[in-house]
Amino acid sequence: MSSGFTSFVSAAAAGIGDIARGIADLIYPPKCVVCGDIQPRHLCEACLSKIAYIEPPVCHKCGLPLDDGKCRQAMCGRFPFFQARAVVIYEGVVRQAIHELKYAGLTVVAQELRDLMTAFLFRTPDFAIDASCVVPLPIHSSRQRERGFNQSALLATGVADYLHLSIDSKSLVRRVATRPQVELSEHERMENVKGAFVAAENAFAGQAVLLVDDILTTGSTAAEAAAALRKAGARAVYVLTLARSC
Ligand SMILES: [Zn+2]
Ligand SMILES: [Zn+2]
Repeated sequence: MSSGFTSFVSAAAAGIGDIARGIADLIYPPKCVVCGDIQPRHLCEACLSKIAYIEPPVCHKCGLPLDDGKCRQAMCGRFPFFQARAVVIYEGVVRQAIHELKYAGLTVVAQELRDLMTAFLFRTPDFAIDASCVVPLPIHSSRQRERGFNQSALLATGVADYLHLSIDSKSLVRRVATRPQVELSEHERMENVKGAFVAAENAFAGQAVLLVDDILTTGSTAAEAAAALRKAGARAVYVLTLARSC
């Protein structure tokens, strides 16, 4: 109790935002969203150490780890984006953390997930070097209402802050409420997202855009969004996702 009181007093001394955080921490001490350990962060060191990073060599274009020096992605040459990169493999800890974020609404873990993305940008300073704005992959307005947030937008704010770029979450819109891609075969995924995105005319004229999403599976969603950005004048589209299924 006394240490709780002390932390409340020090929080009060530090400012209003910190007071709120101090109270929240007393009532709901932060814990790891994956293993449940009471921790100062929402992903603990033990869970973080289990994350599988995507290591080079990867396809210069789509970012898939190379197989005998070749890209296995049949669609690769036709993707309308310039380059796509993902930070980690979509499995285990990251898979669970993304699920907790999206389906249990544990948005507190977004900070740790953002940190994984900015650490990638720190290690890869030449990626998207000419990007002039960050666009989160939009979800349909009906899903946004139901979920209350767009997980890609939560990740994109960290990316935009790190790169000192503006974020545009308005000009690209998802006009079709598509079925979740995870339920579908590769061909169905392409059909499912066809024409799903539209961007305001000339909204991205002459810009190099960095599109941010949580997961890349076959790349068909990112490809459709990139095509809409190109149609709205973007001269190049980069894609950065937290995770990908390899
Ligand atoms: Zn943990
Ligand atoms: Zn490729």
